[in-house]
Amino acid sequence: MRDFIKKYYYLFHKPEFPVNIKMKLGYVFHTEEIFDQKIFQELIRFCKEYISITGKKCISVTMTPPNQRVEMGMKIFGCSNGEYVNRMQELAHYAHIGFHGHFWHDPQKFEDASYDIKKHNTQYQFEILYRQFESQINWFKENNIPTNATYSGGWWFINRDIIELLLKHGIQYDYSMSMSPNLWNPYSIDLVQRNNIRFGESFYTRIEQKKLLHIQNLHCGAEGMVFPEDATRFLNRLIDPEFINLSGVLNSHDYCLDFDNTIKWIRYLILKKQVQFLDHQELIATNISNAKVIELL
Ligand SMILES: [Zn+2]
Repeated sequence: MRDFIKKYYYLFHKPEFPVNIKMKLGYVFHTEEIFDQKIFQELIRFCKEYISITGKKCISVTMTPPNQRVEMGMKIFGCSNGEYVNRMQELAHYAHIGFHGHFWHDPQKFEDASYDIKKHNTQYQFEILYRQFESQINWFKENNIPTNATYSGGWWFINRDIIELLLKHGIQYDYSMSMSPNLWNPYSIDLVQRNNIRFGESFYTRIEQKKLLHIQNLHCGAEGMVFPEDATRFLNRLIDPEFINLSGVLNSHDYCLDFDNTIKWIRYLILKKQVQFLDHQELIATNISNAKVIELL
């Protein structure tokens, strides 16, 4: 629908969430370009505004300097590692920090988008992925920035290899899994369908004694979203009327943050009686004891 038609359409048709559902929502930022002072400041401005509306911190999963794309950005914008650390520390005042990994089939070819390992990729060389994962996540320890045991994957790329690596590094909470058609991948959708996981249902995967709690990514795309009603219609198509206690995160990226439309969406959602905003700790607390456990063989 064109915007001017939508404007009138939504005057008379106000999409609402099903009356009986309860949605506990967090907000996650895939944070990729804080080497750019302008993007960094805009993200901080958003986090502060988000806190003032919801009373909660959003979640900022962040790429790290060993990633070739970040390394190049830091050179271009003259951002040293020390400055990057300072920005992460400042961000941590206003957001819950975590790790955001992006990987390439050949990291030297990171400028060529066809080398990105994206959510649907099942064919890649594990050794090459492994080296990138290790150097990116180890940066946290080397610079005394906590990962807070929190992860969300670049391109929502998640599979058994990644889960194993996350568990190896003590990550306990993941925001990469999704049942949204824009965000799922062959691994995640197969996993949730085989185990009867519903939209907005958190679950653990377990390998031997270690467990990873997955809180679903419900929707990405506030940038350029003029009408928050669009997202309500989108979510209503995915909500299972039999599963009424949903929780999960909404998702944006720092580099394409549309401040006004995203804040408009938050203000719209907070007025819904079905919606409650939670921070990371509260999302964990609400799911930790009752989430289903899926054994990964
Ligand atoms: Zn990303």
